[in-house]
Amino acid sequence: MNEKVRCLIIGSGPAGYTAAIYASRANLNPVLYEGMQPGGQLTTTTEVENFPGYANGITGPEMMEDLKKQAERFGADIRYGSATASDLSAAPYKITIDGEKTIETDTLIIATGATAKYLGLADEQKYAGMGVSACATCDGFFYRKKRVAVVGGGDTACEEAIYLAGLCEKVFLIVRKPFLRASKIMQERTLNTANIEVLFEHNTLGLFGEKGVEGVHLVKKQGTPEEEKVDINVHGFFLAIGHTPNSGIFKDYLKTDEVGYILTEPDTPRTNIPGVFASGDVADKTYRQAITAAGSGCKAAIEAERYLSEKGL
Ligand code: NDP
Repeated sequence: MNEKVRCLIIGSGPAGYTAAIYASRANLNPVLYEGMQPGGQLTTTTEVENFPGYANGITGPEMMEDLKKQAERFGADIRYGSATASDLSAAPYKITIDGEKTIETDTLIIATGATAKYLGLADEQKYAGMGVSACATCDGFFYRKKRVAVVGGGDTACEEAIYLAGLCEKVFLIVRKPFLRASKIMQERTLNTANIEVLFEHNTLGLFGEKGVEGVHLVKKQGTPEEEKVDINVHGFFLAIGHTPNSGIFKDYLKTDEVGYILTEPDTPRTNIPGVFASGDVADKTYRQAITAAGSGCKAAIEAERYLSEKGL
């Protein structure tokens, strides 16, 4: 059976929940679908220490539970389920949930986030939350004065390596090619940072450690006559090989950049379709922080409220 709502929010990270708090307080009766990973990327981190207001820090899952409760307190209807298809050709917009049910909505807030890419090694799962991370700003602090490794050769990897170099004793940057792909300035900064050692032409085979990551098994110049196995001792293993924005089901309707990040009007969550807003990491390749996602979720709900009142809906 189909259902019609005024405000549909897809995604349950800080952007989605914040949009739900604002939309429910504005009497938009929002319905929010949590998606495949209720709570979003933050549920995979341990301690969140940089979200304003938590003087003593809070775990990612606890913070997301608090945000959810706060939205429910004002009547947001939060449901299990994932958006699997969209028809944004005309308002009201149609979103399919779990391939079965269709919801029609006057306004749509897309807060589906982005997914960090992993190498696909079994050890990344084995040591999840025990030394493996895809966010240096989130987790770097736990490795103060320790040795860590970052995988990747792009701007993100260089930025993360430089950030970690300010906290850690030593940072290995594991790069599969004989060169960095990052911008010139980031390359120079990376190569000129004394405690960063760039391991060119190295690939990761696996991780080792008893109670958490204690090191990385690498192979140098894989597939060549000079191939050589190398182990490094580190406590943190950071992936920085890119993110994939979760925008696939909207790609026929919304403008995105070449990677898939939804394009919005500068400083607003407005997309190219009136009444459809994008907030959080699905539209942000630059900052990717919980607090910036929450801020853009707030903006999206305010925009939705204004759109509905202008249209008399
Ligand atoms: P990129 O796609 O630019 O770089 C990904 C890096 O990861 C590449 O070095 C790539 O290697 C490597 N990589 C990918 N897959 C694997 C794998 N399986 N094993 C080993 N290495 C792998 O992603 P970024 O996140 O760095 O950047 C995304 C975009 O955002 C870029 O346009 C970047 O310029 C921009 N950005 C800008 C910033 C700024 O201006 N301050 C900061 C951060 C990002 P290879 O080179 O061999 O393909």
